[in-house]
Amino acid sequence: MKTIIEPFRIKSVEPIRMTTRAEREEKLAAARYNLFALKSRDVLIDLLTDSGTGAMSARQWAAVMNGDESYAGSPSFDRFKTAVQNLMPFDHIIPTHQGRAAEAILMSILGGPGRKIPSNTHFDTTRGNIEASGAEAIDLIIPEGRDSQSLHPFKGNMDLAALESLLTEHGDAVPAVMITITNNAGGGQPVSLENIQAASKLARRHGKLFIVDGCRFAENAWFIKQREPGQFERTITDIVRDCFACADGMTMSAKKDAFGNIGGWLALNDDDLAEQARVKLIQTEGFPTYGGLAGRDLEALAEGLAEIIDESYLRYRIRTNEYIVEQLDAMDIPVVKPAGGHAVFVDAKRWLPGMNPLDYPAHAVACRLYEIAGIRSCEIGSVMFGRQTDGSEKPAAMELVRLAFPRRTYTQSHADYVIEAFAELKDEITSLRGFTITNEPKQMRHFTCAFERQ
Ligand SMILES: *Cc1c(COP(=O)(O)O)cnc(C)c1O
Repeated sequence: MKTIIEPFRIKSVEPIRMTTRAEREEKLAAARYNLFALKSRDVLIDLLTDSGTGAMSARQWAAVMNGDESYAGSPSFDRFKTAVQNLMPFDHIIPTHQGRAAEAILMSILGGPGRKIPSNTHFDTTRGNIEASGAEAIDLIIPEGRDSQSLHPFKGNMDLAALESLLTEHGDAVPAVMITITNNAGGGQPVSLENIQAASKLARRHGKLFIVDGCRFAENAWFIKQREPGQFERTITDIVRDCFACADGMTMSAKKDAFGNIGGWLALNDDDLAEQARVKLIQTEGFPTYGGLAGRDLEALAEGLAEIIDESYLRYRIRTNEYIVEQLDAMDIPVVKPAGGHAVFVDAKRWLPGMNPLDYPAHAVACRLYEIAGIRSCEIGSVMFGRQTDGSEKPAAMELVRLAFPRRTYTQSHADYVIEAFAELKDEITSLRGFTITNEPKQMRHFTCAFERQ
């Protein structure tokens, strides 16, 4: 059969409240054109993020009832730890309430003024935690990763030559090399196993730690299986294990590829580093057998990790994005190709070539998409990355609109509705106006800043 169906049936539903365009225009103006400020009841299809927004399975809900809420020594922690170590063979597994808490703990140990931490592309919270420690976050993506039209199969790869020269010239300043799989900020593009292993080798040759930001490890493994020579016959589990076997640690948001609504972890092999991390964990998150989580969350994550590596799930997951990308591409709407793992990215710089990047073209597209169809997306461009640490503003490398798909939550007809909304938007594209930011916080402004339509 050619039709790839959702590999689940629905046992429990949540209603979507229908709204009119006039109502949505009013709600968005009241939110001062920040999509993060909308109430979720005013959104029809919420593609703001795939983080923590997925549907848990019947088995996960059943596991929740088995949560042991003991302060110390809960068997729920043992089940969680075993499930993590089954895929990621690290010695120390340190649970946190989400990924950024793992990053904050790690950077409190590795970061600091004068230090430099390279990655293929740091996610915004990772960058935020590195910079908050006083260190510099450096993105070393391959050139194809910055070209939305390049069909390179692994556009998330690290630029190994650039990494080598950084390590040669500034090696003393680098405590660790990181790699993000898949590359969220760079379009959900995968990283090849060969590239992960080569980056690890380089880091280790220079005596540096190699840390994987593993948020979408299962989606990345699916791409490796499909696209990397010699990997097709292998199981997702074996590929995942290889991705982490060459690392000294990982940070993880369990709100992504662990089917959790909340959760994360930091994993390390080094005993001394792990001890420092646990001290920080106790100060900021909780006791080492629960971190920032309840026992029931740990149970749900243990089950989620067993489910996420299912190939029929991953096939359906990746196919949804490919399908939307194909349809938008057929309408000549510029999209990042090939489709990424968790999201579809529309290239607003190409779609609105006449608009100044500092009038925020991707934000203009995201706002109009909401007004037309009630779809909430996320700007990944100059609103998110434009403000520099020295206070100046400069355009981001790309102006993208991200449509991130919650896991196991929406169906084919929702995908078709998104495609139809873009057809409508295309008819209105020449009437789009830019935005001005009227009020912004000092850091991570995109979450809370206010806009005015020009
Ligand atoms: C979501 C995400 C994080 C941060 O995780 P949270 O659970 O949201 O704190 C870090 N890195 C990547 C690649 C992510 O996608």
